[in-house]
Amino acid sequence: MTRITSAAGNPSVGDLREAGVRLIIGTVVNAAGITLAKGVPLARLAAFQQSGMGAAPVWDVFTSGGDIAYTGGIDAVGDMRLKIDPNDLRVLGAGRAWAPGSLFRQDGSPAPTCPRRALRTVETSLGDAGFRALVGHELEFVLVAPDGSPLETTPWVPYGATGLFDRAGFLDDLLVSLDGAGIPPEQIHAEYGRNQFEFSLPPAGPVAAADAVVLARIVVGLAARAHGLRASFSPSPFPGVVGNGAHHHLSLSRNGVPLFAGGTGPHGISTAGGAAIGGILAGLPDIQGFLTGSILSGGRLAPGAWSGVHLCWGLENREASVRFLADGEGNPHGANVEVKIVDPSANVYLASASILALALDGLRTNHRLPHEMPGDPGRLTDQERRAAGVELLPNSPALVIDTLDRSRLARRLLGDDIVDVTVAVRRHEQATYGGMAPDELASRFRLA
Ligand code: GLU
Ligand code: MG
Repeated sequence: MTRITSAAGNPSVGDLREAGVRLIIGTVVNAAGITLAKGVPLARLAAFQQSGMGAAPVWDVFTSGGDIAYTGGIDAVGDMRLKIDPNDLRVLGAGRAWAPGSLFRQDGSPAPTCPRRALRTVETSLGDAGFRALVGHELEFVLVAPDGSPLETTPWVPYGATGLFDRAGFLDDLLVSLDGAGIPPEQIHAEYGRNQFEFSLPPAGPVAAADAVVLARIVVGLAARAHGLRASFSPSPFPGVVGNGAHHHLSLSRNGVPLFAGGTGPHGISTAGGAAIGGILAGLPDIQGFLTGSILSGGRLAPGAWSGVHLCWGLENREASVRFLADGEGNPHGANVEVKIVDPSANVYLASASILALALDGLRTNHRLPHEMPGDPGRLTDQERRAAGVELLPNSPALVIDTLDRSRLARRLLGDDIVDVTVAVRRHEQATYGGMAPDELASRFRLA
């Protein structure tokens, strides 16, 4: 797998033919967090980039169950265009290349529901306000058998060296492929859950970082298949045990000066950095539907599961929805905040867009940094927790989506179209699968 670049940054059909490419796959991620794609023969590269390929409006509302959450505005009629960004083409092997796609209307204007465009808009707004954001994603997944059943790996040692040896063939392939695709991981480890692994991607601009997640997941899936395995990115692959998170790290700077270091606040947080953190925390319940909105998301959200269910921030606090990582020798990328609550069923573009939009909102309104939660809030009694002003984020899909639907803040930040399609797919999931027992639900969506 290789990344094709040319002096112009835009590979030619000749470059790609030489690299063995026959089919270009352009992807978009919809409101249900599903990656949808069109494949185009190499000779049609220019068309894929300029006029794009047809994508029915129902692409916005395909659910993870494979059915369609029709809305008043979305039915069988109409068409969007999926266009790829050829600067970001990566060769995947087996004659395939991949590029991230965005959705447009027939007249060439951006589709209002396009998640990648929503993130690009927030990135631009941050830039216009003088801020630069860098985002680094963590990817957690569980290896399972091709039919989705659990693998027998005995013993499983959380964070153990054994996992890195037991699955050496898969991990070697994964490392080589990620490297070849131009997204070398920062580190990889065996996670807490059985057959659960995690790797993290280096910080990048918000859109580039989200694109890298889409590509990385494809690469993980291919590497797993090559070893007779599958990778589950379900937030709750097996009920009752730790789930998969999709933690977002972000840092902000203005004129090259970081906002989360060198300031007069706690741990060097500047006033502006505090405003960004304050904005995120104040709006997190409103946008939770973008972060943990799926029918399975609640299965992961429990105190003690390190999923950040406590609405607070704290230095290196794994039970806080916003974990702060201070500047220092142990932190070569510099101070950053980690939004821990996000899970992999979220649309990565919308998760990033909503978190960054909250940060920008906090900056614009000079939000104040709330008090830090220094220890594990799970150790407090309910009364102590309330006295400390720390709420527990809800784990009910219906509640999370109702809040998103009613949120003026979310609608102001990302627009009605994006909120409405997200609410539609998630409510459809609830109506269709809400009655299933946890075991049945987990296995139904383990490989969704
Ligand atoms: N698996 C946990 C989650 O669901 C995260 C564990 C960790 O802190 O890395 O978010
Ligand atoms: Mg982890």
